[in-house]
Amino acid sequence: MIFFGSRASRIKDGQINNVTCPNCENQTSMTYSIFGKYAHIYWIPAFPIGRENVVECNSCKRTFKLNELSEPIKQKFNREKEDAKTPIWYFSGIGIIAFLIALISYNSMQSDKENAIYIKEPAIGDVYSIKGSAFGYYSTMKVTEVTQDSVFTIISDYEVGKKSGVNEVDKSEYYTDQIEHLSKEQLISMYESETIYDIDRD
Ligand SMILES: [Zn+2]
Repeated sequence: MIFFGSRASRIKDGQINNVTCPNCENQTSMTYSIFGKYAHIYWIPAFPIGRENVVECNSCKRTFKLNELSEPIKQKFNREKEDAKTPIWYFSGIGIIAFLIALISYNSMQSDKENAIYIKEPAIGDVYSIKGSAFGYYSTMKVTEVTQDSVFTIISDYEVGKKSGVNEVDKSEYYTDQIEHLSKEQLISMYESETIYDIDRD
């Protein structure tokens, strides 16, 4: 469940002087407040969704919406609201989301770069996350020996149905199978076809 809604905060307030109140008809001053409304997700402001203006007569205390006021009062108010800027923190949520997306894509770019290097220079102990293309399972394969043009690997006895769970099968006691021999060319083609989709090196 996602909690979201809208809240408001006061952006600016002040006085409008020398005006005639449409209600009590006194030559008086009025107090105005400008509220900014913003949408929030889990109480983190996400983006602004408009304004609400309140104008109160200092004599009769009646509050007015803008369209209930005379043209001269509206004009004075409009000058007041010119510098009432939307606070930057109204966009916090969008900022946080943009930052997280940038961070995730940066991390995945870095890991792609590392993988591209690791696959060409296999080392003992490298753990490949592999996808069984025919069956839709995921498992891990560990490099046990590296020669000039090939590697020896051993595949975990276990497999999982989810990519994200693949680390669970990478335990030393699960590697009891026969050792497999793969040429470095085979390795690279497995990487290019995404049969090997991630490489872990300590
Ligand atoms: Zn009044």
